[in-house]
Amino acid sequence: MSQANELKGPDLARGIGASELEEGKPLLGHAHGEAVLLAKVGEEVFAVGATCTHYSGPLAEGLLDGETLRCPWHHACFSLRTGEALQAPALNAIACFQVEARADRLFVIGKAPDRSVPKPERPTQLASVVIVGGGAAAQAAAEMLRREGYTGTLTMLSADASPPCDRPNLSKDYLAGNAPEEWIPLRPPEFFGEHQIELLLSTRATRIDVEKRQVEAADGRSFPYDALLLATGAKPIELDIPGGKLPNVHYLRTLADSRAIISQLDGAKRAVVLGASFIGLEVAAALRARQLEVHVVAPDARPLERVLGPELGEFIRSLHEEHGVVFHLGQTAVSIDEKSVHLANGETLQADLVVVGIGVRPALELAESASLALDRGVLVNEYLETSKPGIFAAGDIARWPDPHTGDKIRVEHWVVAERQGQIAARNLLGRKQRCTLVPFFWSQHYDVVLSYVGHAEKWDQIKVHGSLARREARLELLRAGKALAVVTVGRDLESLEVEVALEKANMAR
Ligand SMILES: Cc1cc2nc3c(=O)[nH]c(=O)nc-3n(C[C@H](O)[C@H](O)[C@H](O)COP(=O)(O)OP(=O)(O)OC[C@H]3O[C@@H](n4cnc5c(N)ncnc54)[C@H](O)[C@@H]3O)c2cc1C
Repeated sequence: MSQANELKGPDLARGIGASELEEGKPLLGHAHGEAVLLAKVGEEVFAVGATCTHYSGPLAEGLLDGETLRCPWHHACFSLRTGEALQAPALNAIACFQVEARADRLFVIGKAPDRSVPKPERPTQLASVVIVGGGAAAQAAAEMLRREGYTGTLTMLSADASPPCDRPNLSKDYLAGNAPEEWIPLRPPEFFGEHQIELLLSTRATRIDVEKRQVEAADGRSFPYDALLLATGAKPIELDIPGGKLPNVHYLRTLADSRAIISQLDGAKRAVVLGASFIGLEVAAALRARQLEVHVVAPDARPLERVLGPELGEFIRSLHEEHGVVFHLGQTAVSIDEKSVHLANGETLQADLVVVGIGVRPALELAESASLALDRGVLVNEYLETSKPGIFAAGDIARWPDPHTGDKIRVEHWVVAERQGQIAARNLLGRKQRCTLVPFFWSQHYDVVLSYVGHAEKWDQIKVHGSLARREARLELLRAGKALAVVTVGRDLESLEVEVALEKANMAR
């Protein structure tokens, strides 16, 4: 997923008529060899880089809201005034340009000096922060601590063997062979040294001593903390059937897992995917891109129906079938051997490899060791603080009070994990930022991307607008007449509009 590099629209260095720029509508052009967009907010005109720093999404097709600009692809949010990446998934700022008005014309005259305002070091009692985790929430938190001016020691303990990586890519372009491995790390190795972040890989934390305020690791070391963030994420649910642990059976959570699948593809002709989950189906699409014959086995009547409803379930099924995936729905695997998978109905499917995508469970052992309040996740308050003061949780493990539904919810979304990491970081520093974020996730199947805003665990009605067949639709999942979540296909701007509206409502609550 990357935007073509060709420059579009007028040459803004040569100027445009001021009346061509309308309030609320970004105008795409270029200046000095770069894609630049102009935005009018009241009497002010801003010029910023037009390419999202996350996946190079086209910001001119995104949403302007006050002095912010959101990317249509994965909802990164930037400040027009400073270029700062205000909300993940983008971690880097966009460039700002200087605009000059002369005789009813606007000219982009060059790059503006760095407008990011370094946060003054504010007095804090904290001398040491420990983050347990090396994923989305942990990385975003570590970066935000430094952006917020925290200068004390900062240690990240990660059980992963590799540095924080772009996990969503592991089941998509990387697995399909369309993204080189250089794209996978979230940051280059030197980033951690430059920001005084001590990243300890292959380091599993085994216990939290709340009294002594220290984290103990499996290698015997202890890490004292003034404040602690738990971001231990989730781990795949394992199959409990004969053959479930054979070397041809794979799970997918880490870069090592994705590499292991890829290393088995040489000469492989057939793959069986167990589970029609998001990850299972993305794996199916990636393996089809590598020309394997792919069979998906799942107990459900339609893929993803429990999460998205029957209309989208049917759409996803036919989309994958159009690409050659063979479904075995209403079925489960009962055993696996080196070359095949045996189903409950007696059928046998040939398989050079098997990928299991039957869901994940939050990794709660560490939270249990500290006797934190748990409820199918780590319970946190609106500031993402757990039941023990000074210990925060973010990402896939956290169950937080969602202002929109009024429920305590836990989700497994990349952007939520990063945004919660950012909020938790500010709150570790005592900033008291409420978690009013609106859950958002995307999932990609071939050239179709689903964008999901909100959270609907249960619904009693689905309203469909537009047409899934034309790949241009919006589905509302309602409970008692209230839209809890909105899923869009090919309507990115609407997805952003829903996010912003819900965010404002959450903040007002
Ligand atoms: C293949 C794949 C594709 C995905 N695609 C999408 C997508 O398209 N869209 C989307 O919204 N979401 C997607 N997700 C989900 C998304 O990646 C997760 O929601 C997100 O990574 C959660 O972030 P996290 O920081 O909570 O946990 P993680 O990113 O899982 O990080 C957890 C970290 O904690 C470490 N850890 C765990 N226990 C310990 C311990 N005891 N000691 C030390 N370290 C520990 C782990 O090693 C890991 O580094 C995908 C997930 C996967 C696996």
